[in-house]
Amino acid sequence: MKTLWSDKAKSLKPYTAGEQPKEKLVKLNTNENAYPPSPKVAQAIMQAAADLRLYPSPDSDALREEIARHHGVSPSQVFCSNGSDEALALCFAAFFQNICTGDSSWFPNVAAPFKLRTLDVTYSFYPVWADLFDIPLDIVPLKDDFSVDVKRMCGARGVILANPNAPTGVALPLSDIELIAQKTEGVFVVDEAYAAFGAKSAIPLVSKYRNIAVVRTLSKSHALAGLRVGYVIADEDLIRALCTIKDSFNSYPLDRLAQAGAAAAVSDTEYYEKTVNKIMDTRTDTIGALYAMGVKCLPSRANFLFIKCDTVPAKEVFQRLREKGVLVRWFDGKRTKDYLRVTIGTPEEMQMFLTALKEIL
Ligand code: PMP
Repeated sequence: MKTLWSDKAKSLKPYTAGEQPKEKLVKLNTNENAYPPSPKVAQAIMQAAADLRLYPSPDSDALREEIARHHGVSPSQVFCSNGSDEALALCFAAFFQNICTGDSSWFPNVAAPFKLRTLDVTYSFYPVWADLFDIPLDIVPLKDDFSVDVKRMCGARGVILANPNAPTGVALPLSDIELIAQKTEGVFVVDEAYAAFGAKSAIPLVSKYRNIAVVRTLSKSHALAGLRVGYVIADEDLIRALCTIKDSFNSYPLDRLAQAGAAAAVSDTEYYEKTVNKIMDTRTDTIGALYAMGVKCLPSRANFLFIKCDTVPAKEVFQRLREKGVLVRWFDGKRTKDYLRVTIGTPEEMQMFLTALKEIL
């Protein structure tokens, strides 16, 4: 089979999303928010449903304004997408695809072929988009302690970095992000999917550096993984490039319900801060309980922990946790196979996880 497939389709090894189980499990495997979204979201969606006959705003205008207000930027510096995965894919196409001639204004004197610099242990969708858009990668290994070698991230013509990184949860300080922005000749994409849980955002750098694009999502911080809303904050010129790619692919990536629900979530700052703070408190308590059990975890600024149990192999712990009704994530791979990634759930869910883990170790 596959005879009718394009060569590109035949060559791709797609991203594998975390499992959405059919049975009832304590679900700590895909970093969803532990709490429901703001009650204002459902209200706004109900109202928007009355107008479903009509196409939505192609550029999510009202939502862009709400996001701009929330971050103190101009709406012309905001781009909305169907989940941040879509924003990231469009960034790959808009900023990194087919850059090899050396005649663009970004790269006046460059002879060497373009390579996108990224990390060896990071969001596993990046290499998939690189393959999809034929973008060669320049992969920098994390240090032994899973921290980023900032010096080695400097001096590239394009960079993509998750901050905090996934699946490690480790974050770089803003001064390091700024240094990389200064030392990157082309675009520096900072994926801040998890930044709301305690990392410093690079959004304030956008007014200073015209080459930095900050990608955010409402999936984690605003508990809207099911609504699919992401966005990019960047200089107007980069936003125009993203709009050009979007309008060459799908003019209406966000439906009316998503635009209305997302705007309501972003406007409810009080609710958002309350839930994010609860999750960070539960993270502190969970780290304490793990250390008391002799389980190590990396310093996390995200709504998940990357943990290492020394006595039982991680794959086995993953399987036995599942048998006990607790689903976490295990990534095969030389540097990740000894670790488990565990989403921070409610205090009750974390207690169930800790009890099951204790029985296994
Ligand atoms: N970036 C990172 C680092 C992620 O872990 C995820 C979630 N899988 C995303 C982006 C995409 O999130 P979403 O498409 O739900 O906005």
